This record gives sequence, structure tokens and C-alpha cells, in this order.
Amino acid sequence: MDEERRVVGRFAPSPSGRMHLGNLWSCLLAWLSARSAGGEMVFRLEDLDPDRCRQEYCDQVMADLEWLGLSWTGPVVRQSQRTEAYAEAFHQLEQKDLIYPCYCTRAERLAASAPHRSDGIAVYSGRCRHLTEAEREARSRTRRPAWRIAVPEGERTFTDLLQGDYTEDLSRDCGDFILRRSDGVYAYQLAVVVDDAMMGVTQVVRGSDLLDSTPRQLWLQQELSLAHPSYGHVPLLLAPDGRRLAKRDRDLELGQLQEKYTARELVGMLAHAANLIPEPAPMSPEELVPRFDWGKLPKENLVLELGL
Ligand code: GLU
Repeated sequence: MDEERRVVGRFAPSPSGRMHLGNLWSCLLAWLSARSAGGEMVFRLEDLDPDRCRQEYCDQVMADLEWLGLSWTGPVVRQSQRTEAYAEAFHQLEQKDLIYPCYCTRAERLAASAPHRSDGIAVYSGRCRHLTEAEREARSRTRRPAWRIAVPEGERTFTDLLQGDYTEDLSRDCGDFILRRSDGVYAYQLAVVVDDAMMGVTQVVRGSDLLDSTPRQLWLQQELSLAHPSYGHVPLLLAPDGRRLAKRDRDLELGQLQEKYTARELVGMLAHAANLIPEPAPMSPEELVPRFDWGKLPKENLVLELGL
């Protein structure tokens, strides 16, 4: 990776609900990381899934980031308008004979999958990888396929800015993954790689729930001859009972937080949780820029007691 490149970080929210405290936390740390390196942020709405994303959430997410004092440069990119670029990348991978149709139903997928990974996600067995043309034809009469990419064997390691070395063997730990759903929607893994490259992103900072997506994304970048950004996966903020925060549960969402706290207070509490300041004092993101330090951030998920 080229250390000389100017840092371009990114916000990449999914507008499927109001942001919660965990989203603010990763956005703040991504912004601080880019700005403290003299870089900038760009903005993309991950509104690929028409069933889950709504315009009101798109507007809200931008208003919420501005309210917090988190800025970006350049136009807002919307994944819903980037289908052609994804189709082109998909085609390139098809030309390399890496893509095949998968006709498995959910039940078949689960029955045929290898032992579950530690996070409970089933590893696809490759059941449809070696179907003959005749079998494909027969199955496509009754079912519209999803499209998977055939992953290579062998361990690969990358060095995360916070978590250190992370190793995965895609065929053992992930299996052939979907690049395009049966309803035609391109998968997050493909879209994210194409967009990060188009937007000139050199640094991806996001929640550690996406750590195990990174080997897939690095490999797709390699297959598509795209540059690799660096990656930093920050710990998750958990609900007081230890659960992951979820938009659908309206956990610690910004609307509620705004009734009780100013933007400076919230930023100060997050900065304190990140070990960037000794006490949770009101602060602006701008004031925190000189204090940001990857070496101080906690690595483990944490609960932030807010007393709402
Ligand atoms: N859109 C994803 C989310 O809101 C983030 C994807 C990414 O950072 O790569 O969780």
C-alpha cells in the first residue's frame, strides 16, 4: 500500500433507519482518522436495497452528520444510481470465469453448507459450482438464479490499523459468495469495492462487524485490478444489555439523543470512550483532530452508559 497517498476516508451509511450511537461513533472515528492525517472524507449512501432504504432516511443521515459537525467533500454518491458500474465489474469477473449461477433455495443452502463459522454464518458448500450446462438449463426453468463468485483456496493476511493481522482462507471461512441476488440487485461486497475505487478512497474506517468482509473486498480488488485502501475496524458500541445496537430496535438513535444532549456533549462522550480525552467534556470534532491517535483506541466492544 502506498503510504504517500493523501488520505481519503469515507462515510458509507445505509439509509435504512435513523443513525444510532454506534453509527455516530464509527463516523466520528473515520472522520478524525482522515482529518488528523491531513486528509478528507467523501460520502456515499449505501441505498442498494430498495426494500430497506427510504429517501427520508437519506436526508436525515446527512442532516445528522452535519449536526454533529462531520463534513465531507465532493458530491454525494448513491449506490442506487451506480448499477452500470457494478454491471461492468460483474462482467469483468464473468470474463475471468469466476462467476456461476446458484439455484439453491434457502433450505438447500443451509442443508449443504459446511460447519458454521464462529459468527454463525454458514459457509456455502459450492453445491452449484460444478453443475453441467444441462443441469443449469433444467434448473433455470423453474428458478431465477443468484450469482456467486468462486473463491480461491489459501490463507491471506492483511494488517488492520487497529486490530493488527487478520487471516482468512476464503474457501474455508467464507465460501463462494453472492455478487448478484436473484432479483438482480448487486451485492454489497461488489458495490463497495467498485465505489471505494471510483471515489478514490484510500482509508476505510468502519465497525468491527465488517472485519470479516475485508478479505473478500481485498480479493475482489485484486481480481478487478483496483488499488487497496487501508482498513481500520473500530470496536462496536453495545446496548447496556450487551446486544449490538440495531436501527430496527431504535436503540440509542440520534432523535432520542438529541432531546437530551448537544452535539458537543455527544462528541465529548464518544471521544472519552475512545480514550482521546480523560473526561467526557463537550468538544467539537474539529477540536479533537490533534488528539486522535489509533494507538489509544480500545480494541474490544464496549458499552457506553449514557443515562438516557
Ligand atoms: N453501509 C454499511 C453500514 O452502514 C457500511 C459499509 C462499509 O463501511 O463498508 O453498516
